Amino acid sequence: MKTIIEPFKIKSVEPIYFTTRNQRLDIIKKAHYNAFLIKAENVIIDLLTDSGTSAMSSAQWAGIMIGDESYAGSNSFFRFEKTINEITGMPIVIPTHQGRASEKILFAVLGGKGKYIVSNTLFDTTRANVEASGAEGIDLLCAEGKIPSVLAPFKGNIDIKALENFINEKGAENIPLCIITVTNNSGGGQPVSMQNIKDASRVCKKYNIPLYIDACRFAENSYFIKKREKGYENKTVREIAAEMFSYADGCTMSAKKDAFANIGGFIALHNEQLATQCRNLLIITEGFPTYGGLAGRDLEAIAIGLNEVLDEHYLQYRIRSTEYLSEKLAAAGVPVMQPSGGHAVYIDAKEMLPHIPVDKYPGQALVAALYVEGGIRGVEIGSLMFGKYDSNGKLIPAMMELVRLAIPRRVYTQSHIDYVAEVIIEMAKNREKIKGLEITYEAEALRHFTARLKEAN
Ligand SMILES: *Cc1c(COP(=O)(O)O)cnc(C)c1O
Repeated sequence: MKTIIEPFKIKSVEPIYFTTRNQRLDIIKKAHYNAFLIKAENVIIDLLTDSGTSAMSSAQWAGIMIGDESYAGSNSFFRFEKTINEITGMPIVIPTHQGRASEKILFAVLGGKGKYIVSNTLFDTTRANVEASGAEGIDLLCAEGKIPSVLAPFKGNIDIKALENFINEKGAENIPLCIITVTNNSGGGQPVSMQNIKDASRVCKKYNIPLYIDACRFAENSYFIKKREKGYENKTVREIAAEMFSYADGCTMSAKKDAFANIGGFIALHNEQLATQCRNLLIITEGFPTYGGLAGRDLEAIAIGLNEVLDEHYLQYRIRSTEYLSEKLAAAGVPVMQPSGGHAVYIDAKEMLPHIPVDKYPGQALVAALYVEGGIRGVEIGSLMFGKYDSNGKLIPAMMELVRLAIPRRVYTQSHIDYVAEVIIEMAKNREKIKGLEITYEAEALRHFTARLKEAN
């Protein structure tokens, strides 16, 4: 087969600024070994996140110019609403300024003390919003999803048996919703199968629990279903997405992911009564229901992006380019999560740095080393992000210690990715020199964003 090429031409570019290894040693120290605290201009290849970092298309930029900035009843809102109605089949669309604002509103209405929100894996902001409402977030990931080295097609699936057991144990009346994250960001960008969504929907219906989809990467998930699930090979990605949404009562989405937008999000749903409660909160926290914290031009860019992401040439390139990096690393013996996820490659830091104990944050140590060696910025998805303390102040580590290299959409070319692979492979050869880290400051919630660390002795 011929090389799968980037299905776009570059019309506008921005410079990359270069730093030396010595400069980066100084920069990471001053940033307290937290990559979130580094200035973007000091990063050569920025794989911190695929969120809001997409390159917008010329069509989206044109949409920016025709955005209707009317406070109420903007044309751009109606195009946004119609696009989401068409893709999800959900009649009610509530715009928000980003994914977590959707979560905040939904869980403020449905969550609360004594309630449980069940999921395949809650993303960090989702979990934080569940917990902020007083409810408890429960991850019921399938067994194969918990082992980074296991090859399986749908490692993002929710464990259906565990779901039903949990409902029976806690009582359906204490579970206001089940939310399935597609693809499973915190669990390695792994997809969820249609069968699994169907099964989860059947269980939820049996107990009268609404099923929601965290739809940030719905198009990538749909493409994986097309490629990996029997019976979907001849369906369009749009048809697959429509079927996926048909099993759900509602969804939340961050438009900063699969909508190629730099900001934005929404809640879509069927339940008019719930929508009214959400809109009442929306007006206090985000804005009037036809703009919800966004400018008209953002609504326009999102509407255009949501249609562009369903282009199968794009999705083929997207999934293949992630796989390309993953394959290069795996071939050189770097332990990566298998198979590669949709939007990111995940390095298994526990396996790569066995000399660093989990309470010295091997993932974060790897993030720091990656920056020093190549100016590459990744993010830890491990015990810095998800760790908790027991009553004696001892770390309860996360399930896995991963470093995520998220690939911004349509931003980097193959040679950028080749450079990333070269740096990591070189670094892996000197892995025993990488030192563990200790926390010197941490916030109560979402500590990884602002934590300060130092090298452990
Ligand atoms: C990014 C993300 C969110 C939160 O969206 P923001 O726009 O960053 O607030 C929620 N869930 C998943 C799966 C995500 O990837």
